[in-house]
Amino acid sequence: PTRLRTLDIKAAVKRLRSRTLDSFGHKGSFGTAVLVGGSYGKIGAIALSAKAALRSGVGKVFIQAPKCGYEILQTFIPEAMFEPAGASYIEKISLVKKATYGIGPGMDTHPESAGALLAFISQCGNAVVLDADGLNIIANDPKNYLPIIPKNSILTPHPGEFDRLFPGTDNSLSQVELASANAQKWELIIVLKGHHTAICTPDGKIHYNLSGNAGMATAGSGDVLTGIITSFLAQGYTPKNAALLGVYLHGSAGDLCSKKGSPESLIAHDIIENLPGAFKKLG
Ligand code: AMP
Ligand code: MG
Repeated sequence: PTRLRTLDIKAAVKRLRSRTLDSFGHKGSFGTAVLVGGSYGKIGAIALSAKAALRSGVGKVFIQAPKCGYEILQTFIPEAMFEPAGASYIEKISLVKKATYGIGPGMDTHPESAGALLAFISQCGNAVVLDADGLNIIANDPKNYLPIIPKNSILTPHPGEFDRLFPGTDNSLSQVELASANAQKWELIIVLKGHHTAICTPDGKIHYNLSGNAGMATAGSGDVLTGIITSFLAQGYTPKNAALLGVYLHGSAGDLCSKKGSPESLIAHDIIENLPGAFKKLG
């Protein structure tokens, strides 16, 4: 049997657990997500991730960001709780009990942030979502970081981040093969983002996403995906299902944006605002 799978609406419907099945649930039943990132001038990235996480069904969201982002974050997304993690960049990542972490959007690669990430992943134990500067930090010192990332963590590189992390490929097809090889080697889920995002799982399978469009090639788009996947992981979905559902819904919300508006004018905010419609399409 082939290792290749397509991630279409049927595969997404099959994986979504409807909130209506949990009528007696309270916010404690739907998990806690902690989004870690932001730095002076790049606070928006973690703001988008946090809002996308809340729009994807998680019960509670904490944002660990530098203090310079406090007012921006509390204004942009008042539903999220703020925990200071430094002055103008991340200096420390604090452990919140029973919470699931998404780390990296807008984080910068300051040596203190790199130290904070190393300390955190060596003690957290559970699968995390790593993106953006979280991945760039790892790429600067892969030998020390890759072996200690908790198994089944989800890495969401775009092709540039992937190339820094796992160099040596010269086209997108060989990049997918290298992603799959490393997903197996390190027991990680590698989400190689692009036109047809490839989700590579530790069992060697490669799932190609069929939703999404080129309008999504815009600043902040990936930060939204990080929030969505972290939200599903926090709600108790398996890492594989969190990655698959997250990637599909993100693309599907992007398709609604382009259909209702135009791909040219799509901005990352719009993807978040179309998540309700994307969930509705899954029934
Ligand atoms: P990032 O570069 O981290 O902001 O992530 C970009 C996001 O937009 C990823 O989820 C990509 O899959 C998506 N994206 C970028 N370019 C395209 C494209 N040409 N077609 C479909 N999706 C895209
Ligand atoms: Mg990104």
